Amino acid sequence: MSKGKGISINVLKTRRNAAIQRLADSKPFIEGSLTKIRVTCGNPNCRCAQGEKHISHVLTKKVCGKTKSLYVPVDLVEEVTQWVEEHRRIKQELKEISSLSEQIIRQHVSTKQAVNKNLKRLNRLKRT
Ligand SMILES: [Zn+2]
Repeated sequence: MSKGKGISINVLKTRRNAAIQRLADSKPFIEGSLTKIRVTCGNPNCRCAQGEKHISHVLTKKVCGKTKSLYVPVDLVEEVTQWVEEHRRIKQELKEISSLSEQIIRQHVSTKQAVNKNLKRLNRLKRT
């Protein structure tokens, strides 16, 4: 991560507030990724029995190291795609806010160090 030298705390806070605002404007979201799978329906007379399988959609996510799948009906696929995309965006915003907060801490520390350095120099000047 960059040290954020030269970026003032105010600028960092403005950026963080903007990211928080984007987070507040969130739309419905869902964790996981949408994948296409090929399935057979079980009907021996169906074309899928001859190898021409049906396309189905599942939402998968890892729970305690295991992949869990949730069947998504075809009429919901478009909507769920948007939910998945929104979840990705929110995760990105969370990372951004966290990173800005880290930079604010670093900037605060380096500002304090600079102030202390100047104070020491001033005290030295006063003594002489
Ligand atoms: Zn079939």
